[in-house]
Amino acid sequence: MVIGGFSGRAARDACPGALQVHVAADGALARVRVPGGALTTDALRELAACAGELGNGVIELTSRANVQVRGLADPAAFAARMAAAGLLPSATHERVRNIVASPLSGRSATGVLDVRPLVTALDADLCGRPALAGLPGRFLFALDDGTRDVLGLGADVTLAARPGRPVDHLGGDLTLLLAGEPVRSVTAGDAVAVALAAAEAFQSVRGDAWRVAELPGGPATIAARLPGAAPVAVPVTVAAAEPRKGGVFPQADGRVAVDVIVPLGRLTPAQADLLAGLTPAEVRLTPWRTVVLPDLAPGTVGPVADSLVEAGLVIDPASPYARLSACTGRPGCAKALADVRADAARWAETGTPELPDGPIHWAGCERRCGRPRGRVTDVVATPGGYRVSH
Ligand code: SF4
Repeated sequence: MVIGGFSGRAARDACPGALQVHVAADGALARVRVPGGALTTDALRELAACAGELGNGVIELTSRANVQVRGLADPAAFAARMAAAGLLPSATHERVRNIVASPLSGRSATGVLDVRPLVTALDADLCGRPALAGLPGRFLFALDDGTRDVLGLGADVTLAARPGRPVDHLGGDLTLLLAGEPVRSVTAGDAVAVALAAAEAFQSVRGDAWRVAELPGGPATIAARLPGAAPVAVPVTVAAAEPRKGGVFPQADGRVAVDVIVPLGRLTPAQADLLAGLTPAEVRLTPWRTVVLPDLAPGTVGPVADSLVEAGLVIDPASPYARLSACTGRPGCAKALADVRADAARWAETGTPELPDGPIHWAGCERRCGRPRGRVTDVVATPGGYRVSH
């Protein structure tokens, strides 16, 4: 069934996963989903080992807080090691576990709801529903803890705690948004079931659409199919907050979290091992391609910062790398007209050419893969050189 005359598309959903890899110019590329961006230090060390031993020695961070390893000579061996590390809990649902969450949830004093239990429950219940194995790999869930930091990601289904209104797991209110449009209130206890009902409703009407926003009237269509009370007006403004990249953030428990900017979103195995060794149990990957090291004693920040900078990582929010992104470019992508990563890094180091303030995205062709949402200066390779537009 196709809603509203959506005209469809010819290409199949080819989003890569850990099992369904993408064959790029530099070899097989595997993407591993990391719901909520929560990665144990053991899992990060195993990713680093796999990138070095089986891939081309790079871990890429994605705009959905997932990870990619490129240049895999033996994708099956990689998948087996990811499964053993607990990063591949479902072979059938691996590409649909797309769940982003406020990275500092449960630790920051500014959030009003710890969404970590909701991430765990949503992931488990998603994987337990056979019908949802067929969701497009682009379909995205977001869980916002009231800081509004993941509201700007354009998720298909968002559950957002309301700023200034403390909630609990026994009946507090969240806002359900579909393709960014607030459609109803839900209790925290019902939130996971309602989110999955929305995904199932989308799956039943989507035709060959990949995103809710592609269906004319999609949010209303799906909201009308949800169980329970009729949708109600949502008395809340849900403007997105700008993500904060880099720096030291206080936690509610007196400890601190360090947000590490990863230049152009690529970690070497040595950098990943370093990050794993600096925090007690886990790191948090963010959708803006940084890595949060939580639960640090305030007195350790100086030495931690020194070791990060020495390893080529960045914590200064004023660094050019805080606003810089780039697609794969040459040599990894056959469509690329330039080695955009090298050129973007050169710009970050030299400030030349002069570019406007704000986010900057370098791309090797007009597709502009990995471009952040919102207002961005584009630096796009063309046969005649780079074109700058904003
Ligand atoms: S923007 Fe173009 S060159 Fe860059 S990764 Fe996408 S297809 Fe390749």
